[in-house]
Amino acid sequence: MRQIIHLDMDAFYAAIEQRDHPEYKGQPVIVGGLPNSRGVVSTCSYEARVFGVHSAMPLREAARRCPHGIFLPVRMSRYQEVSAALMKILRDYTPLVEPLSCDEAFLDVTGSERLFGPAEKIARLIVERIEKELGLSASVGIAPNKFLAKVASDLQKPKGFVRVKAGEERSFLAPLPITKLWGVGPKTAARLKQMGLQTIGDLQKRSEEELRRKIGESGEQLHRLALGIDNRPVLPEEEVKSVGHEITLPADTDNRDYLEVVLLGLCEQVARRLRRQGLVGRVITLKIRDTDFQTITRRTTLYQPTAFEEVIYQTAHRLAEENQWGKKPVRLIGVTVSGLQQSDTGQAPLFIEQEQKDLRRLHQTLDRIKDRFGEKAIMRGRLLIKK
Ligand SMILES: [Mg+2]
Repeated sequence: MRQIIHLDMDAFYAAIEQRDHPEYKGQPVIVGGLPNSRGVVSTCSYEARVFGVHSAMPLREAARRCPHGIFLPVRMSRYQEVSAALMKILRDYTPLVEPLSCDEAFLDVTGSERLFGPAEKIARLIVERIEKELGLSASVGIAPNKFLAKVASDLQKPKGFVRVKAGEERSFLAPLPITKLWGVGPKTAARLKQMGLQTIGDLQKRSEEELRRKIGESGEQLHRLALGIDNRPVLPEEEVKSVGHEITLPADTDNRDYLEVVLLGLCEQVARRLRRQGLVGRVITLKIRDTDFQTITRRTTLYQPTAFEEVIYQTAHRLAEENQWGKKPVRLIGVTVSGLQQSDTGQAPLFIEQEQKDLRRLHQTLDRIKDRFGEKAIMRGRLLIKK
């Protein structure tokens, strides 16, 4: 039986600001920028959440809801410093640490129990050290697999501590809403609701065949997750940390069609570089700089690592949409894939779909042609439409 811990820091950026500036303790701290500037909330303290402020909310809206909030700029280098110290603590307990972002990681402590005691004790030790050495609080989930551990860590934030024991997977998940399932976005959620499904328990009662029939290939994955089955290994980060590409546009523009074509082109290049290096990545980061040199970076974690531009584009495009791109003329766009691992680790993925296999074959062929005849030999229809 595996013992997986998912650790997630509580309101990381805001908590660091409160620790660095004790006068902000107990105050609604909103990290992201000045209250009347453009851009969105990056993180806010729990005191600010009481007023309905949350991440990704426009700063102006945050200022309306919480006019007395303490608005602070993002000090990324400071947060990264603390993140490095955090990851160092985690690696004291197992080499199998898989960071998902700067404030979140999976740990496989199955092999560490002889040295440090049961997983629960290890988790307590880690949380105590984070409090003492970093002056910050974290939430943890402990479970037999990654999916359950991640759901568990989120249930009782802040300072959450939730354990899912083997055999309790189904009953633990049953009362939770279906949106807790990894990979269920607004679209799938709507379709599941049409089927009369509200909770994961509702989903558990349906057969895999029915789900496949009604929501397609991902139905199989949802079915497995609903039952609490997830065999993905915890993979420590590869040496190549990320593959990315960014481009400064020849002229600032708010033309959506044009921006979408540029974004697709970037995703293709990144995907191709990933495949060339035999890598797949899980974390997609989008960077947009507007005509006023305001830069936003947004990231999200996929359920399954990818090297396909279709997936990267779809994800980056969603991030762009969520952040109202094109409201102001755009100057620069960048796409980065991180959370990398070898694509042929020998670890069977959770599910291999025929679709994915076909896609992979297609890409191998396209890459071969491009290697021989150059980048421009084949371009997607979309890229050719607009010039
Ligand atoms: Mg966090």
